Amino acid sequence: MPIYVYEAKDAKKSCSKCKDGFEISQRLAEPKLDHCPYCRAPVQRIIQARGLRHSETDLNYRAKRAGFHAMKRIGKGEYEKMY
Ligand SMILES: [Zn+2]
Repeated sequence: MPIYVYEAKDAKKSCSKCKDGFEISQRLAEPKLDHCPYCRAPVQRIIQARGLRHSETDLNYRAKRAGFHAMKRIGKGEYEKMY
């Protein structure tokens, strides 16, 4: 089954699942979701570039996109960026 990515239309009316997008596998015959299955907020389907989000680095990619960095503590008050 193909996997689709949906994202909240309005980030203010979203839950943690749909705020940054969630993946769901649906049959081709199934209708598009228009509401988040978790919080019922309106969502839109994202057309994704193959390989960009469906990869081992997906989480890292999303973390970067969201502005998070994995930090490793290397000393007192010092942090090293891991990516
Ligand atoms: Zn939601």
